[in-house]
Amino acid sequence: MQKIAVVTGGAGFLGSHLCDKLLSENMKVICIDNLLTGRVENIEHLFGNENFQFIKLDVTNYIHIPGRVDYILHFASPASPIDYLKFPIQTLKVGSLGTHKALGLAKDKNARFLIASTSEVYGDPLIHPQQEDYWGNVNPVGPRGVYDEAKRFSEAMTMAYNRYHSVDTRIVRIFNTYGPRMRLDDGRALPAFISQALKGEDITVFGDGSQTRSFCFVSDLIDGIYKLLLSTEVNPVNIGNPNEITIEDFAKEVIKLTGSKSKIIYQDLPADDPKVRQPDITRAKNILGWQPKIGRQEGLRITLEYFKKELK
Ligand code: UDP
Repeated sequence: MQKIAVVTGGAGFLGSHLCDKLLSENMKVICIDNLLTGRVENIEHLFGNENFQFIKLDVTNYIHIPGRVDYILHFASPASPIDYLKFPIQTLKVGSLGTHKALGLAKDKNARFLIASTSEVYGDPLIHPQQEDYWGNVNPVGPRGVYDEAKRFSEAMTMAYNRYHSVDTRIVRIFNTYGPRMRLDDGRALPAFISQALKGEDITVFGDGSQTRSFCFVSDLIDGIYKLLLSTEVNPVNIGNPNEITIEDFAKEVIKLTGSKSKIIYQDLPADDPKVRQPDITRAKNILGWQPKIGRQEGLRITLEYFKKELK
């Protein structure tokens, strides 16, 4: 029988790629989004598809979906630092109330539930690279706390529904991801650097640029999430690309790739900005047989083409 999946946040960067993937695996997809940070443009190409349905809804309110549902993938949340600083209460609500509602739907439908968690659960990590059994170093009252704690709560709620209501659950911890459909203005390093380079503006590196990140191309990430969804693993699984780079070197890489004449300028480091980040993907490799395939050079070239079109 054809599977039916609900994707919350389905009009977002990751959510929309997930809708594409599930449709390509011959599922019916019900995409829910309140369009706070998601965009209709990300799913417009699916509107003619008879297996696709879009419902504009805030998942912090009651979610009613008639009929059978097999999978619920809860991806609704602002996810870039400037978005969750702009919408702190909505971020906390969608991670707490929204996760509760989505889990309630999963319980009612006897559906498998997958929560989009994050490397931010590790905070400014004291263990490097980050393994899933590390409990993290998060400042609950700092500006990033609204996102980090919402996601930590989501994980706790997910495990509670698994243990006490026997809901079949999965937790993916998503590390920095990039690719087409990222918003040019979402404030993250990659879209900021590429748009600054293309416009010939100064590249804004925060702090001295020695902090590190590890960037995963979106198709690799979606492939890992899909494998996790179909697996039996209930414990959290890191999905990301372990290839780590300093933000300063990353800025230089973008300048070289775009052939831009932009100069790097250094600005204040935001509060609680993690100094290092790299996923340990041993668990994903062993359990899912997954590892990323697209290197940064190739992924950046594809993303650059997308941003050039967006800037026209
Ligand atoms: N960053 C930067 N310049 C920018 C945007 C971000 O130097 O214009 C830095 C930011 O301080 C962080 C890293 O780049 O150290 C990655 O930031 P991003 O917002 O992409 O996501 P994060 O990994 O912090 O969630």
